[in-house]
Amino acid sequence: MEKTTRIAVVASPGFSHLVPILEFSKRLVHLHPDFHVTCIIPALGSHPPSSIAYLQSLPHSKIDSILLEPIPKHKISQDEVTAYQIETTVNLSLPFIHRELKSLKSKSAGLAAFVVDIFALDALAIASDLEVFSYIYLPQAAMIFSLYNYSLTLDETVSSEFRDLKELIKIPGCVPIHGRDLPLVFQDRSGLSYKMFLERCRKFSSADGVLFNSFEALEPETIRALREETLNQAKKEEEKTTTQVYAVGPIIQSGSSNEINGSGHSDYCLTWLNNQPERSVLYVSFGSGGTLSQDQLNELAHGLELSEARFLWVVRAPSKVSSAAYLDNTLNENNPLDFLPEGFLERTKERGLVVPSWAPQIPILKHSSVGGFLSHCGWNSTLEGIIHGVPFITWPLFAEQRTNAVLLVHGLKVAVWPKANEDANGGIVERKEIAEAIRRLMMEGEESDGIRERINALKLEADNALKEDGASTMTLSAFAYSLRGK
Ligand code: UDP
Repeated sequence: MEKTTRIAVVASPGFSHLVPILEFSKRLVHLHPDFHVTCIIPALGSHPPSSIAYLQSLPHSKIDSILLEPIPKHKISQDEVTAYQIETTVNLSLPFIHRELKSLKSKSAGLAAFVVDIFALDALAIASDLEVFSYIYLPQAAMIFSLYNYSLTLDETVSSEFRDLKELIKIPGCVPIHGRDLPLVFQDRSGLSYKMFLERCRKFSSADGVLFNSFEALEPETIRALREETLNQAKKEEEKTTTQVYAVGPIIQSGSSNEINGSGHSDYCLTWLNNQPERSVLYVSFGSGGTLSQDQLNELAHGLELSEARFLWVVRAPSKVSSAAYLDNTLNENNPLDFLPEGFLERTKERGLVVPSWAPQIPILKHSSVGGFLSHCGWNSTLEGIIHGVPFITWPLFAEQRTNAVLLVHGLKVAVWPKANEDANGGIVERKEIAEAIRRLMMEGEESDGIRERINALKLEADNALKEDGASTMTLSAFAYSLRGK
């Protein structure tokens, strides 16, 4: 019988950090049945019910999990930024992580490696202590990893705030980018988040490799530049092993896991889509927690109305903070439909479906009636759109979403980006601009035909990357091969 290769993955707290690393694990054990994964999961306060439900959906003979003792909430200031709370939870959990990894290593089958989430980098020190190979799983674009990799250089060479730079920033292998479109963490260099971020970047080189959720054909230049960087590093430090890079995507949620947070809207949405013409519907969603202000919500509603396009809109109750629902699910307790402009539902009922808070995104994107995706450009949504060949209207809100939007619009050219009027209402995207972007994408014409041609080509490339002999499958096999017998 084939010997089992055991690895451990260390997630960081929260449902949205758990899912990507476990989806990666699922693909690994599916392609390499001789692998077994143990997932170690820290928590702040308690383990979220959504995480527990998700864990129950895993193939238990191949992936098991260890829920660590939650860190009591009073030990971490709730006033600090989310990244601080997440990292501190992992830090306070390190003794438990150490205990579990040591116990796994001492078992007869041993431990070939462990893979940590981007917010759990402090666990890398345990790897060197236990003499186990360690890897980082970054559920993001190669461009984001390149930027992280380049950020210490940027920090040394730029003295102003990045957003004030007149010239475009050139990250090796990436589409040039304005400072204002860098991830949110770069927008205030005096802030705690930025300092913590730079600390995180310093730890990258202590891992034996970084795996990220992208594929060769999506970001060829970026991945090539990252590999060259690795080679140069190898030349400089001959005796030291270098950080390898592995593009293993696109990995999106499979099976029923995309509907774990669902609230029973699945059949309803799909039945409605069945009655719409081919490629006619714009799907509008801001991810698992993106919210708009009340003014912006009104303007989007009027923009959709003005465009005369068909739409399926996942509406969330408004908030002044765009990531509010990401941190606080109680916002969903307000009925989002109460915040829409008066008469909107009645006026658009023949061509629009409005769904409160959550919809089954992957089945929707897969549906042939969907012809466009107005998205906040979270990386999962981005990959889900690409895999299903649905072009985008970009509407980035927070985190690294503006950078993903730059990649979609200027790098891949599969999206249009309606811009905010900075003089209006504190920078709002106005209804005419929204309607114009919808028409540009949804109506036939030179621009939208070009966009559709390119997104269809990317869809094919995404399929190819995951075939038996596809680039990402081969890369994952190379990773697995390097761990066997360790
Ligand atoms: N999602 C969903 N239904 C919704 C909103 C989101 O199924 O109504 C899923 C979506 O398919 C994606 C994930 O939630 O897999 C959102 O991840 P993403 O990285 O796009 O954004 P985030 O939620 O992290 O901002």
